[in-house]
Parts: sequence; C-alpha cells; structure tokens
Amino acid sequence: MPVTLLHIRAARERIAGKVERTPCVLSQSLSERTGSPVHLKLEHHQTTGAFKLRGASNAIAALSAKERSRGVVAASTGNHGRALAHAARLEGIRAVICMSRLVPENKLDAIRRLGADIHIVGNSQDDAQQEVDRLVAEEGLVMLPPFDHPGIIAGQGTLGLEIMEQVPDTAAVLVPLSGGGLASGVAAAVKGVSPGTKVIGVSMALGAAMKASLDAGRPVQVEELPTLADSLGGGIGIDNRLTFAMCRDLLDDVVLLAEDEIAAGIRHAYEEEREIVEGAGAVGIGALLAGKVSMTGPTVLILSGRNIDMALHRRIVCGEAATATERTA
Ligand SMILES: *Cc1c(COP(=O)(O)O)cnc(C)c1O
Repeated sequence: MPVTLLHIRAARERIAGKVERTPCVLSQSLSERTGSPVHLKLEHHQTTGAFKLRGASNAIAALSAKERSRGVVAASTGNHGRALAHAARLEGIRAVICMSRLVPENKLDAIRRLGADIHIVGNSQDDAQQEVDRLVAEEGLVMLPPFDHPGIIAGQGTLGLEIMEQVPDTAAVLVPLSGGGLASGVAAAVKGVSPGTKVIGVSMALGAAMKASLDAGRPVQVEELPTLADSLGGGIGIDNRLTFAMCRDLLDDVVLLAEDEIAAGIRHAYEEEREIVEGAGAVGIGALLAGKVSMTGPTVLILSGRNIDMALHRRIVCGEAATATERTA
C-alpha cells in the first residue's frame, strides 16, 4: 500500500495547527430512522469549507525550499484549488489554479480572493490538467494534484484517524467518492486502526468515474455531467497511479445516488441537522435516507464540504430544485 498508517500519522504531525480537528456528533434523527447510532463528522466546518485543506497543507509542508520558490499549480473543481490557495498563502508561496468552465462562479471567486492566479480552460477536468502540464513544463511550477498524490492522500487520511478516536466502535464509514483521495486516505487510516471497520464510497450516478473504473478493472474515462454533487465531478485519470488501486483494495462497497437523493441529503442536513452542506457533502445522508446502505452498527458519515451556491441551496431546501440543470432556472 503506497500510503499507510505511518504516513498518515506523520501527516497529522505536519499539519497540526494548520487545520481544524472537526467535531463528530450524533445525529438523533438518522439514528432513530435507521435503528443504529449515526454520527456526522462535520468536516464542512473545516477552514476553507472542505477537507481538502488537510491534503494541501500536508503536501505543501513537505516541499523543498527550491520547490517553494517556484510555486505550486493544480487543476481543481474548486475545493482543492481553494485549499491549495489558502495553504500556499500561509506559507508565502505562489499558487496557480487551473479549472474548467463547468466550475460554479462562487467557487472561482473564493479562490481569487485567496490570492491565487486562476487559469480557466476547456470543459472538463482533463482540459484543465493539460494547462497544468504546460505550466509545469514551461514555468517549472510544482504540480499538486487533487487526489492522486501520496502527500495529498496521507493528509486526507488524517480525517480517518480523528473518526476512530471520536467513535472508536465505528462499524462503517461512508465517504464521498470522486477521485478517491479522501476514500483512499480514510480507508488506510480506518482499516489500519480497525481492520474490521467497513469503508463505503458514495458517488453520484451521473458520471461516477471511480465506480465505472472499479467495475471495468482499470481506470476508464466517463462523460462529465452536471450534478448537484459538483465537487464529485471529473475523471480519475487514465494513468491513475495510486487511488484506483487503493480504492479497489480497501473499499468494501461503492453506492451511487440519483440527483433527487442528493437533494434529499442536502435538505435533511438543513432541516434536521441545521447544517448547510454542498451536494458532495450530503451523499452519505442521501445514501442512508435512500436505504442504500445496510447498517451493521455505529456508522459515521463524512460531511465533506459546504461550498454550495446559496441561491441553489435555497431552491433545494424549498423543494424547487432537484437537479443541477435547474441551477440556471
Ligand atoms: C474533493 C471532494 C470530494 C471527493 O474527494 P476525492 O478525493 O476526489 O474522492 C468530496 N467532497 C468534497 C466536498 C470535495 O471537495
């Protein structure tokens, strides 16, 4: 395994004081509904609004002086870019963020305000990645990708360490799944501490690249489609080095959600838990509400982010929008 408990414990030392240890709270309503204790890891309260600050902070802290002087670059659907911009500014280094035109305006603004340079290219994560490759080749910047990188995976894994300290008898952890950096890191940490604990990935049905790749037995490309869980969009990379194999070897299951099931998760988080989460952060709740996960004991859901356009959020909680295409309505 390229990233182990040892790497994740080292990451925790490295990022101490730079990221929040987020609360993990019992959900009364979901526990009653399912008949087992359900805990919510409130990682959407992390600085920058998503867990990605963990990986970004760890990868940046591990750079050499020479690499710091050149700066960092990444392709990002938003939250990784925001995290990288924040972590780079803290260390006084340059960050360039490349993204596709599908990225919502609110996410773009947040990154610009954090002082990063933004390059907008093409209609997919893969197009944005080509611009990253160009900057690495022509300007010598250091690429820190959103998920397929050992330092990023180890940083995200620190979330798994916290979960096992906060709820030691966890039977299952539900992890929002896209490129698999979060799921790989959390699964390595959780299973390193407690091999019997299940780790289940949750993706949207529209363009679930990791699920399609696991089914095919190799990384495959899928069409990127608009989804309420926009932070879960994008491919895993045809030349994926780490997260495909880690997810294949460590995840117990992957479940897929329809758009209205994601909307139900966002609505439940707001009405019952009084939490504002983005689509990607609501898929664990959505999976439980849809009855797509069989409960075997105490279950932890990772609420991974809160960076949702608030006009869209209002329409979802009012029941007016249940798909991403209604965003412009
Ligand atoms: C990036 C992201 C995910 C998915 O993480 P991967 O490491 O790409 O699987 C889930 N939720 C939120 C809020 C994210 O920003």
